[in-house]
Amino acid sequence: MIIDFKKYSSVRIGPLCELEILEEEREFDGFIIGGANNLLVSNKPKKLGILGKKFDFITVLEKNKEFMILEIGCATRSKNIHSFCKENNLKGLEFLRKIPGLLGGLLKMNAGLKDENISKNLLTVSLAKKELKREQIGFAYRFCPIDEVMFKASFRLNYGFDYAKDEYLKKARDNQPSGASFGSIFKNPKGDYAGRLIEAVGLKGFVKGGAMLSDKHANFLINKKNASFEDAIFLIELAEKRVFEEFGIRLLREVIVI
Ligand SMILES: Cc1cc2nc3c(=O)[nH]c(=O)nc-3n(C[C@H](O)[C@H](O)[C@H](O)COP(=O)(O)OP(=O)(O)OC[C@H]3O[C@@H](n4cnc5c(N)ncnc54)[C@H](O)[C@@H]3O)c2cc1C
Repeated sequence: MIIDFKKYSSVRIGPLCELEILEEEREFDGFIIGGANNLLVSNKPKKLGILGKKFDFITVLEKNKEFMILEIGCATRSKNIHSFCKENNLKGLEFLRKIPGLLGGLLKMNAGLKDENISKNLLTVSLAKKELKREQIGFAYRFCPIDEVMFKASFRLNYGFDYAKDEYLKKARDNQPSGASFGSIFKNPKGDYAGRLIEAVGLKGFVKGGAMLSDKHANFLINKKNASFEDAIFLIELAEKRVFEEFGIRLLREVIVI
């Protein structure tokens, strides 16, 4: 399968690439992509793979008066998971309304918003040859140590879709910069904000070629017009360098460069 990352990735940067489709649960020695909402793809990426359509599903494994246990394929979109939860009055995944991605990518990034994240209500994750329980995994802020392909996962969700939280989290996203991006460039350092630090070193709104460190939120890189990989990586490295020089803080990347 050929993917044009200029169209497929959320930041609209990258080459045309040949990808291997994983139709079955098996080991894979390349780099697996999800929805490419957190990726910056260079002109020479590694061997790439993507899950087949078979892994786009939501199945109810158990249902009682208190909760449901769902099994969800790792190629399922966040917005479909959100809609399912809303339709079935399930709480815990309201934040997915505004976070783009497929379940595999959401799990690998332990994606979240405010106090919510995808691993909170997780029960198990299935890999090619084993199933792991949540407690065995060691999730942390935007971190999941699994380095294999994830194929499906199960969640226990109580009833009571939280409409107030849904609206609050939607609003929290509404003031994020518009335009093609991969969300936050860097994780927030403990007790601080990457956006504040980048702004403090004078890089808010800084432009290189077609890319810009957003003038609305400096931790967002926006592809303003035909930005190249080189434009984007220049800005990322510049922000890292300037923040380290000024504050002695090494910003950790949330975006994955391949
Ligand atoms: C506008 C915008 C807003 C965003 N806001 C937020 C936010 O509020 N909070 C937040 O946490 N994130 C946010 N993000 C980032 C992004 O949505 C998340 O990181 C999401 O989890 C990426 O999912 P993906 O499927 O696109 O993964 P990709 O970007 O394709 O991949 C990300 C990582 O997941 C791995 N991966 C993908 N699929 C699998 C699999 N099946 N098995 C194993 N590993 C896999 C990849 O190898 C890679 O390491 C935002 C992005 C955008 C564009």
